[in-house]
Amino acid sequence: MILRIAVFLGLQLAGGVCGWLALPDRAAVGALAGVVAAGIGWVSADAYRGARLLRWVRAGDASLDAPSNGLWGEIAERVRRLVRARERLTRDSQDRLNDFLGALQASPNGVVLLDGQGRIEWFNHSASQHFGLDARRDMQQYFGNLVRDPAFAAYFAGLDYGHELSVPGRGRTPLRPVSLSLQLHPYGEGRLLLLSRDVTALQQAEAMRRDFVANVSHEIRTPLTVLGGFVETLQTLSLTEPERERYLGMMALQAQRMQTLVNDLLTLSRLEGSPPPGLADWLSMPLLMAQLEREARALLAVLADKTGRELTLVFDSQCQCELSGSSSELLSATSNLVSNAVRYTPPNGEVHVCVAPLQDGSVEFSVRDTGPGIAPEHIPRLTERFYRVDRSRSRDTGGTGLGLAIVKHVAQRHGAELTIASTPGQGSRFSIIFPVERVRQLA
Ligand code: ADP
Repeated sequence: MILRIAVFLGLQLAGGVCGWLALPDRAAVGALAGVVAAGIGWVSADAYRGARLLRWVRAGDASLDAPSNGLWGEIAERVRRLVRARERLTRDSQDRLNDFLGALQASPNGVVLLDGQGRIEWFNHSASQHFGLDARRDMQQYFGNLVRDPAFAAYFAGLDYGHELSVPGRGRTPLRPVSLSLQLHPYGEGRLLLLSRDVTALQQAEAMRRDFVANVSHEIRTPLTVLGGFVETLQTLSLTEPERERYLGMMALQAQRMQTLVNDLLTLSRLEGSPPPGLADWLSMPLLMAQLEREARALLAVLADKTGRELTLVFDSQCQCELSGSSSELLSATSNLVSNAVRYTPPNGEVHVCVAPLQDGSVEFSVRDTGPGIAPEHIPRLTERFYRVDRSRSRDTGGTGLGLAIVKHVAQRHGAELTIASTPGQGSRFSIIFPVERVRQLA
């Protein structure tokens, strides 16, 4: 500032001296004119530089040309630094905002930001899938107009957002149920944050759990009721010895039924809860076939005693090989298939059990029967727990409805594939193909 005053005074002095020299006969007037002219020149130059600075500030672009020295130059430099600091701050905030939005975008849950009037301000990818929103079309639209579910409309209008709401998801069909759980959270000045989750799998798992508990209770209740009835009969009636024997035999049968059910349930829970079997233990196929044949003939003898049923059983071991995995699981799965065939095939039928190598080195274990067969609509559901095509036949022959569920689990745990082919009235063929990694030839 001092320099500026000094320059101004210097210019005035120089103007005065120049005027005085220019008009020697009227020196005082010349000097005054010189001082005034120097003053006007200085003010004009200053105004021009000030105007340049103003233009530069108005343009708002720090890279444009601006006064570079003097007071105006300093003001320009300071403004430039201020603008740069602000730009840096804005860039940092923008980066942080982008990171934040990126994280919300990556969330598997839907996020929608609504303004005070319930209009959409922002939403992430999951929300656009959950509600069918389009970033270009639906921004600033009233969210209540886009989600037309009556329960949601009541929830939205009710202002009580303390609980989650379950609504049908987009694209829901009777065969493909989609369910969303959503909740509104107020924030800021009257704004709302809407969070949504796809709970389809959760609800299906919950429904399966409920069905499972209901099925187990039902399966156990039936023999328990029968047992209770027999106990009451034994307590209240005076029976002859043969009658007592008969009742006790029937009670033992019901107890045995419950025991089989509990064993199958435990097997399933073990299969679900333990790691898949490794490749260290080997089971000989000829030995497995021999054991299956013994069990099948014993079962047939029991059934023949009861029903006089005769069947032809063929065991065909075409593979001198071993399978790696859990021997107990493999035995359980294969014997379930054999016992089903024996139980469901009517008198004079044939059950053919075969183990054979396939061309690619894998091994197929198959059970073919000439039983009643299974209609195509039942086949995809056979491995569900407690699914039965013929309820009374299954119960009469001691079935639990869990056999094929066990077979499927064991096959999956061994990397094997279970296939079921059947023609109603002609018979069925169940096969498990074990992958080549689990097969080796017997030495
Ligand atoms: P279950 O203990 O009732 O036999 P599974 O899970 O082993 O239960 O089998 C499920 C259902 O599949 C059976 O109830 C039966 O209706 C049908 N099924 C299984 N194997 C055969 C077969 N070899 N022939 C005809 N139906 C079969």
